[in-house]
Amino acid sequence: MEKVNAYITDAPGGTVKFTQVNIDDEKGNVTLRPILTGICGTDRGMVKGSLSFTYNPEGYDFLVLGHESLCEVIESDSPEFKKGDRVVPLVRRPGDCPNCRIGRPDNCSDGEKHEAGITGLHGFMRERFKDFDFNLVKVDDPDLGDIAVLTEPTKNVVKAFEVFEKVSQRSVYANNISTYEGKKALIIGTGSEAFIYAFMSVDYGFDTYILNRHPIEDNKIEMCREFGIKFIDSSKEPEFPEKFHIDFLIDTSGDPGTIFKYVRKMNYNGIAILFGTNGKAPKTEIDGEDIDYIIERNITLAGSVDAARIHYMRALDYLSKWKRRHGEAMNKIITGYFKPGDIDLFENKPSGEIKSVIRW
Ligand SMILES: [Zn+2]
Repeated sequence: MEKVNAYITDAPGGTVKFTQVNIDDEKGNVTLRPILTGICGTDRGMVKGSLSFTYNPEGYDFLVLGHESLCEVIESDSPEFKKGDRVVPLVRRPGDCPNCRIGRPDNCSDGEKHEAGITGLHGFMRERFKDFDFNLVKVDDPDLGDIAVLTEPTKNVVKAFEVFEKVSQRSVYANNISTYEGKKALIIGTGSEAFIYAFMSVDYGFDTYILNRHPIEDNKIEMCREFGIKFIDSSKEPEFPEKFHIDFLIDTSGDPGTIFKYVRKMNYNGIAILFGTNGKAPKTEIDGEDIDYIIERNITLAGSVDAARIHYMRALDYLSKWKRRHGEAMNKIITGYFKPGDIDLFENKPSGEIKSVIRW
């Protein structure tokens, strides 16, 4: 392949550049061009050099960024895809462990998997690239539009709810009519991933709250209103009524102080999913009372990362459903379109950002 423009970093040290790269050892039977690529906390963390688990592909002194994408097939030697098809490429690529071999590299048991744009595999923020058909998920719903770029962050949420469902089976978790109505879910954070967690939580029937340490912009307030999510500004006391107990806690902040503050407000048999990562978050103290609280109430803390092909497919169905139900309001989750070459976007989060995307 000839030279193409790409966003690159040097992992794990950081920096970001938009420059020409030549990646001629890439294999695949489908050639793709991105239509949209999303930017998230992981991309910004890498550029800042705060994600120590990231690394360049073997033989390269750089890594092409980008793991959230909606792409178009421009050439295909695969019977499954034709020119013009819209697809989402999988981020994680399997290693050789038992979980990877059954198609669940999201549960990789030896860390030998790779992730496009994150760990040892070039990402999708470049004008063209090759991939194999078995790494692509087709976008069938023509009405989904640009929202299909959210498939990647949504698949994380689908998998996390799968973890939630498995863990919740250890006791009677639903209410007395076997639904989650009346159960409280609290999501820490107000970024795109937090909102998608909140959409799913509402979908499951939870009384859904999102929380931040500061007020949120009007577009986010509007998004909450549209989707039936309640916002809590934790800088204002009192945050919760006395008897408020969280049944399902989801963290997108990666901040241990915040997480443990709300773990101590969890209900019996509560489940906490930890999703946000922030290696630079400050230390916090945990004491014996915290541990007692968790044990005496059968609280489960579960980490959840990434997802498998099945979750991408379900993510597309959820996005179609939400788009059908909320129409134009759903499109407002994309708060900014940027041009390839914009660097500032990686260093400064635009005000009111839910999801910023680059239109290629
Ligand atoms: Zn593995």
